[in-house]
Amino acid sequence: MKKNDIEHFFATLREANPEPRTELEYSSNFELLTAVLLSAQATDVGVNKATRKLFPVANTPQAILDLGLEGLESYIKTIGLYRSKAKHLMETCRILVEQFNGEVPSTREALETLPGVGRKTANVVLNVGFGQPTMAVDTHIFRVSNRTGLAPGKTPLEVEKQLLKRVPAEYAVNSHHWLILLGRYVCQARKPKCWECLVSPYCDFKPKTEAPARKS
Ligand code: SF4
Repeated sequence: MKKNDIEHFFATLREANPEPRTELEYSSNFELLTAVLLSAQATDVGVNKATRKLFPVANTPQAILDLGLEGLESYIKTIGLYRSKAKHLMETCRILVEQFNGEVPSTREALETLPGVGRKTANVVLNVGFGQPTMAVDTHIFRVSNRTGLAPGKTPLEVEKQLLKRVPAEYAVNSHHWLILLGRYVCQARKPKCWECLVSPYCDFKPKTEAPARKS
């Protein structure tokens, strides 16, 4: 994708959705971190369903610790891999209380010391929670970046580096949401809906897909 097209690509996405938001529900950075930790290989809808019950009861590191492992598991057992996620979350809460005064740290180095927090989770928290122009490359962003020619790369890290280089600064903070939403609802894995895609004129993917024929 050419530089000029990248500009139009993001200008179009911004015009359609000027203030994109994550679909995970949260009201503090700790709730955000918890939701992101729980969301690995799970849907945002599934995570929201669990956290709507969990957060009113426990939404601080100390409150989660007070629930105990079994107590925490009882709230999240509808989410895949809940046992290991519960263990990571308990340990993360212990470290937050002991080393970070109960606050979520705002640096990648500190975030990545927390159990279950890898580069992608740290990027989401830095971007969504702290407004930093980081790029958390999930399956949607990886696919969209390659398919459109926006930021081709063989690994998520390669795509992340390309995006950091190629996305114009004024779109950097929100680009993560725009790309996820594009991938989730339009540029879907099995068959992209090019016929209804706003950024089709700027996308390198060929041939573009056509709308299914109407049954008469
Ligand atoms: S035109 Fe098609 S391939 Fe390109 S971003 Fe849109 S849906 Fe994806």
